[in-house]
Amino acid sequence: MIELNHALRGGEGWPDSAGRLSEMDKKKEHVVIVGGGFGGLYAAKAMKHAPVNVTLVDRRNFHLFQPLLYQVATGSLSPEDIASPLRATLKGQKNTQFLTGQVIDIDPERKVIILEDGDEIGYDALVVATGASHHYFGHDVEWEDRAPGLKTVEDAIRMRRQLLLAFEAAERESDPDRRRALMTFVIVGGGPTGVELAGALGEMTRHTMREEFRAIDTANAQINLVEALDRILSTYPEDLSAKATAALGELGVTVLTNNLVIEIAGDYVLVKDTKTNDQALIPTYTVLWAAGVKASPLSRVLAQRAGAELDRAGRVMVQPDLTIPGHDDIFVIGDLANFSHQTGEPLPGVAQVAMQMGNYVADVLRRRRFNKAIRPFHYKDKGNLAVIGRNRAVADIHNFRFSGLPAWLIWALIHINFLIEFDNKLKVMVQWGWNYFTRRQGARLITGEASPVWMQLPVRHDSGIEDAAIHANADHVDTD
Ligand SMILES: Cc1cc2nc3c(=O)[nH]c(=O)nc-3n(C[C@H](O)[C@H](O)[C@H](O)COP(=O)(O)OP(=O)(O)OC[C@H]3O[C@@H](n4cnc5c(N)ncnc54)[C@H](O)[C@@H]3O)c2cc1C
Repeated sequence: MIELNHALRGGEGWPDSAGRLSEMDKKKEHVVIVGGGFGGLYAAKAMKHAPVNVTLVDRRNFHLFQPLLYQVATGSLSPEDIASPLRATLKGQKNTQFLTGQVIDIDPERKVIILEDGDEIGYDALVVATGASHHYFGHDVEWEDRAPGLKTVEDAIRMRRQLLLAFEAAERESDPDRRRALMTFVIVGGGPTGVELAGALGEMTRHTMREEFRAIDTANAQINLVEALDRILSTYPEDLSAKATAALGELGVTVLTNNLVIEIAGDYVLVKDTKTNDQALIPTYTVLWAAGVKASPLSRVLAQRAGAELDRAGRVMVQPDLTIPGHDDIFVIGDLANFSHQTGEPLPGVAQVAMQMGNYVADVLRRRRFNKAIRPFHYKDKGNLAVIGRNRAVADIHNFRFSGLPAWLIWALIHINFLIEFDNKLKVMVQWGWNYFTRRQGARLITGEASPVWMQLPVRHDSGIEDAAIHANADHVDTD
């Protein structure tokens, strides 16, 4: 067991160097937060002045600004521009300790969380904010490797590598059909992530990379955005969906609505029209997944150990105060939580929901301590924004609808503002300014293991080496 007075040393409100806790500190509640994403980090920050000791645990040592991951995947930003080390972020917060570790179990009886190396951390109150990951609707095993999703820094780097390698392979390919397939991209899912990815890819092929190749014209790339519903951005008003479709069209993106992906192979994707049942085969080596999400595995732990009820996506059904029934000391927030008490429907899996939930939990703990009344959580929707490309975006903010440059400017300002560290705000601002005026992007590196690039390309070689399909994670390509 990692004892509070062992793990947390020094600083105001913490044990002295001999590990002694003052009488005041002994009375303080120990709040353990699992997950340093939007929910967990905002909960920790909101407890800065609270009379509690906080331990934040994350398997990564950084907070990741996921809304800009697609810019890493398409080479506009570097990974470190959108990640902030949690230890540095919480440096000035003396009542808070950060620990790196993967939580694998929770024992509500003993009030401890258990890390994968067997260490345990005791809590008085527990906040679980471990988010969600990709969901391939029952095809996880076959599709995960062929159609990478975008959730982690590694995902973004892998996507960037795959996109850039496709153009490198096309430049060297003499067969026109294979070349066309190499320059065809399929993005599955017409929500904000899919739209943003498709738009960024359109910018990259129509503008940024043009004239850099000799044998191919990147503007001939075919980018297909496949959506099962009858319009993209289905949570936005219809007119904004239509504007987004038009803006994507200007960037060379074909939007295939009412189309369901039914097969993803190494060199093609099969889609089915949901109205006519007609099937179409799209030859491609690059499929990017931006469709479903499922809750992180800790929700199953909460179901088994604490009897929490889960929805179909594995999210934890929470009570109006974000606790789980029978456990008023366990809060579940962010993407992991299904909060349906406000509208009857679960709140959307967006950063604002997670951040507001984090702030709310801090407030509940404060109110409990001072025996104040607790109101149910209430989400204040500040609006929706999706960017499509340079000067192209759509925004739906309190019934005001914007598109084009005004929406793009609002989007840029908001995203800069919500980056956690000042350093990152500055770097992203400079990088965007540079990209905007020069249309050049500096982070288009193909990185990975040391094997020669040509061995990872899906091009036939005289050496007799079998096609190393571009969808395969290059780390797994056998280069012996
Ligand atoms: C590509 C992409 C684009 C997005 N774009 C937008 C957007 O434009 N606007 C918007 O509002 N929202 C957007 N979102 C959604 C938004 O990022 C999420 O709603 C938000 O991150 C949820 O916050 P969270 O704290 O619940 O989870 P997360 O931010 O995912 O954080 C979960 C944390 O838990 C940690 N963790 C997980 N399991 C464990 C474990 N077992 N032990 C220890 N630590 C663990 C993870 O390392 C992570 O740091 C986007 C998401 C993605 C993936």
